[in-house]
Amino acid sequence: MSPEKAHTLEPSADAPTPTTETSHAQERTEIATSDAPPTQGSQEPKPPPFPEHLRLEVEEFSRKTDAFVKSLEPLLAPYRGLLEAMKKERKRYNAWLEAHPQRVVYYQDIGTYTACQYMPNVEIRDTPEMGRGVFTTAPLKQGDLFLAEEAIVFAPQEDDPLIVSLLGMFANPWALAKELIQIDPERQALAAQLYNAHTDKSAHLLQQLAQIQAASTHTFPNAAPETLVRWIGTAQSNAFCFQVRQRKRVGMYILASMLNHSCSPNASFSFEGTTIVIHAQKDVPTGEQLFSSYLGGRNLPVERRQQMLQERFHFTCRCPTCTTEAASTPAESPPPTTP
Ligand SMILES: [Zn+2]
Repeated sequence: MSPEKAHTLEPSADAPTPTTETSHAQERTEIATSDAPPTQGSQEPKPPPFPEHLRLEVEEFSRKTDAFVKSLEPLLAPYRGLLEAMKKERKRYNAWLEAHPQRVVYYQDIGTYTACQYMPNVEIRDTPEMGRGVFTTAPLKQGDLFLAEEAIVFAPQEDDPLIVSLLGMFANPWALAKELIQIDPERQALAAQLYNAHTDKSAHLLQQLAQIQAASTHTFPNAAPETLVRWIGTAQSNAFCFQVRQRKRVGMYILASMLNHSCSPNASFSFEGTTIVIHAQKDVPTGEQLFSSYLGGRNLPVERRQQMLQERFHFTCRCPTCTTEAASTPAESPPPTTP
C-alpha cells in the first residue's frame, strides 16, 4: 500500500489566519449578519436575536434553491437589509458560476474521486512517496481554473478559550469534528477516506477531550471519544480556513485535499463564499503534479517550514526550494569573517 500523503492547508494557531479570499472577494461589501443589525433612529423596533440555526443556512444562501430562498424570506424579514444583501450575494455568485465553464463540484458529484469527471484537465493519481496527488492531463496556462469545489462540511472557527488553550492548533478542527459527527453517512464515508496525520496522538487527544468534557458539558458532542479523536485528526490534516463576509470559517474539501504541498507551488487557492477555487499559478505542462502551499504563502526559513509541516502534517518537504535551501544551510556555509 502506498503511504497516504499529508496534505492540505493550514490553520495556524500562532499566526493570524492568512487571508485566502480573492481580491475580488475582499472587495465585497460587508454584509451585516450580526445579531443586532444597525438601526436608524430610536423609533426603529429592535429585531429579535438572530436565530442561531439559520446562521450557516444564510451563509449557504448563494447556492440554495429558489424554493429554499423563498422559505427563508419570512424568517429573515425582521433583519433589515439582510435579505437584500443575501440576494445580491446570490446574484453575484451565480454570475461567477456562469462566467466559468467548469461547474462547481459538490460531494454528490464526487463518487470515486480517482475518476472524477468534473475536474477538467487534471486527475488524481497515486504517487510513490506522497500518497495521492493531482496531475495535469492537458497543459494548464497560468491563471487557469482547474477546480472549484463546495465543502462537504464547514463550521464557524472555534473560539472557546478552553478548547483553544487545550487543543491549540486543533481548535479549528474541533469545530469541524463536531459537524463531521452529525453529517450524513455518505459525506462521512468520503471524509473517512482522507488522510489523518495524527493517529499517533490519539491517547493524548483522548486526555484533552476528557478535560473539555468535564468543563463544558453543554457543548460536548454526543459521540464516542475515539470517534471524535479520529475526526479531529482528519480535520487537522485536511481543514481549510477561509472567511465568508468577515466571518472565519473552517471547511473540508475532498478533491482540494488531494493537492500535495510544495514551498514553490504551481497552484493557489482562494474562496468564493464557501466554494474553494484553485488556479494554476504558472504554466504547467501535461503530466506534471500540481502543488499548493500548506503554509499560507508565508515567507519562512526552511527550518521553520519543515518544523510546521512535520508538526501539523507529519511529513518532510522535499520540494526543490527546500532541497536547495537545505544544501546551503548556515552550518555548511563558510564561517563569517571576524573583524
Ligand atoms: Zn518545501
